[in-house]
Amino acid sequence: MYIDDSTFVNAEIVRRGLAHVYRFPDNAGDTGHIAALIAAQNEAIDNGVGVWSIPHSPELYYVALKTSYRFHRPGCTSARDYNVKDWIRFETREEAFRLGYSPCRNCKP
Ligand SMILES: [Zn+2]
Repeated sequence: MYIDDSTFVNAEIVRRGLAHVYRFPDNAGDTGHIAALIAAQNEAIDNGVGVWSIPHSPELYYVALKTSYRFHRPGCTSARDYNVKDWIRFETREEAFRLGYSPCRNCKP
């Protein structure tokens, strides 16, 4: 959504830490908007605003399937059947967010 044909409102919401970027296969082709949203999210992470100001108890690591948009806590039932060779491992949840992964709705990393 744009205001005055120039302000990408979705990115402004993400930049203020009021929402996460949530990727789905059906918006994967919208690479320009996705890149703008991830850049806005990285800015929010850097500035520690909104949801990024809320402290989390960190896991030792987080995982995602290479072919997925979701990242998980290591014990998530949605991730337990992943073959380790198909994992991407992140040391922090912010690392996963910065690379454009979205949090699993089951384990809420
Ligand atoms: Zn999960």
